[in-house]
Amino acid sequence: MNAAVTTELKLINHWIAGGTVSGTSGRRGPVYNPATGEQTAEVDFATVDEVGRAVAAAKAAFPAWRELSLAKKADLMFRVHQLVLEHREDLARLLTAEHGKVLSDALGEVQRGIEVIEYVCGIPTLLKGDFSEQASTGIDVYSIRQPLGVVAGITPFNFPAMVPMWMWAPALACGNTFVLKPSEKVPSASVLTAELLKEAGIPDGVFNVIHGDKVAVDAILGHPDIAAVSFVGSTPIARYVYESGTKAGKRVQALGGAKNHMIVLPDADIDMAADAAVSAGYGSAGERCMAVSVLVAVGDAADPLVEAITERLPKVKVGDGFDSASEMGPLVTREHRDKVASYLDSGREQGATVLADGRDTAPDGDGFFLGVSLLDDVTPEMDAYRDEIFGPVLSVVRVPTYDEALKLVNDNPYGNGVALFTRDGGVARQFQFDVNVGMVGINVPIPVPVAYYSFGGWKASLFGDRHIYGPEGIDFYTRTKAVTSRWPDPATSKVDLGFPQTR
Ligand code: NAD
Repeated sequence: MNAAVTTELKLINHWIAGGTVSGTSGRRGPVYNPATGEQTAEVDFATVDEVGRAVAAAKAAFPAWRELSLAKKADLMFRVHQLVLEHREDLARLLTAEHGKVLSDALGEVQRGIEVIEYVCGIPTLLKGDFSEQASTGIDVYSIRQPLGVVAGITPFNFPAMVPMWMWAPALACGNTFVLKPSEKVPSASVLTAELLKEAGIPDGVFNVIHGDKVAVDAILGHPDIAAVSFVGSTPIARYVYESGTKAGKRVQALGGAKNHMIVLPDADIDMAADAAVSAGYGSAGERCMAVSVLVAVGDAADPLVEAITERLPKVKVGDGFDSASEMGPLVTREHRDKVASYLDSGREQGATVLADGRDTAPDGDGFFLGVSLLDDVTPEMDAYRDEIFGPVLSVVRVPTYDEALKLVNDNPYGNGVALFTRDGGVARQFQFDVNVGMVGINVPIPVPVAYYSFGGWKASLFGDRHIYGPEGIDFYTRTKAVTSRWPDPATSKVDLGFPQTR
């Protein structure tokens, strides 16, 4: 970091109890414009004390927030929805500026987040409990859902607005107060979100933002006043967060990395499959946890599929996300771009055929660009297959049969998303029955569930018992209480030391 430059840089602060709070640690991280390679801001890294202040603010705000009627909470969520909608372009611009994704894609991200806010506007219905009249003579039993208290969210760089919305929207609507620790690479969207929530009338302290690194994460995981933690990020950190958080007695859902396969059967519409592979492999420069990373070409599908994809690659326009002609932007950092590019070398060394090397087609300049890249003849032993690359590198694995394609997917340690391209409904139905993956697309390459279902993978893609947003999000952010009730009736009252019976 260049000290002469950083004195002029924008400084991004924490948001605690309804206002910005400057960090005191003296530790800060750089924020870049990935399209130019320039540092544009610095972000405060929190101390343990600063995390404590945010948690204290959230704890103080909890009783009044919890008590607010469902009608008033729904009203506020409608106002939040309206404001985020009005400011969706402002949010999207921050995403393009700090993450690099093209503006149309950034708008798409914000829209999918808004749908989660839309879903929780129905919070009075979502929190309805059960009621059983006359469970025993004169006795009724019912269940109610109550919030957990202060909950925290820790989020990744690749969806700086949407993934936090997956967390704070249901958490707040359920009556919890919130501490968000966004990715230090893309901090600005969270600050704008905090401002919008305040403007909407969400009381101070209900939503707080703490910026930082492992120090802040560990302070969250160890804080006795935090009841639950939602995490989205890479698998090693997800496992760490799950193990540390649950050991400290917290409820934890920790969504991890992915290696998503797209199987193409010989009867598939090859042009449709090629369009889908290019869109899902290179959209957002492959930095989506639901990006297609491996194309599994079955039997005779392989040659025409690879040919159709190869034809499409030169047409993908790579450039600055603010240029409306660009379809794919840069990667998030220089280090990440170089790591992604290294899989082209290791792939070649390990026997893959490099059909497109994105280093040859990346735009000139200091931006963190890598062009679209395609590896053919990849096998499961290669690094390009084993690792989550998280960039615009698509690998083609050729297998002779559907059974081998299924086995490949089921043997993979990750289980986030998978897609099958076929015209055979019977095979597709059998596939959805057999595949060990949390989110399945049938001729749909990025099967992110709509807001009224829940999002989550299996195996090393999720640690915990609950998927995120949708009905499972409501479950995660509430606990149920079962009440057994009888009104005084002298006619049925007697002493009975036996265990309560229903019949
Ligand atoms: P990451 O794991 O590096 O970071 C995620 C969060 O953890 C950030 O807030 C970061 O500050 C924090 N963190 C990083 N290192 C830490 C450490 N050692 N100790 C404690 N906290 C730490 O992930 P990323 O690079 O920001 O995001 C990309 C990853 O996220 C990919 O693996 C991608 O698949 C995954 N992801 C998964 C989903 C999903 O829904 N399953 C969605 C989006 C992204």
